[in-house]
Amino acid sequence: MILGLDPDSPQCSRAGCRSSASYSVVWRNPKIHSVDRRKVWLACAEHVDYLRDFLASRSFPVAVEDGLVDGNGVVLPEADA
Ligand SMILES: [Zn+2]
Repeated sequence: MILGLDPDSPQCSRAGCRSSASYSVVWRNPKIHSVDRRKVWLACAEHVDYLRDFLASRSFPVAVEDGLVDGNGVVLPEADA
């Protein structure tokens, strides 16, 4: 078995964490991504808050979805211009 390449058990995006992901942290970087672009980090229950706060602290629009999503259609809390 090759670790990390099993599509049936997606892992948390936190460095060093091998827990199965159960949340999707959806975000974009306003400086480099267009307004309809979505990036997704997968997160376990332990690290979902860490990953969300990491992005929020950089003033990136970020939203947490239950389960694993591709980010399409997720509405991010865009900062007021
Ligand atoms: Zn984790």
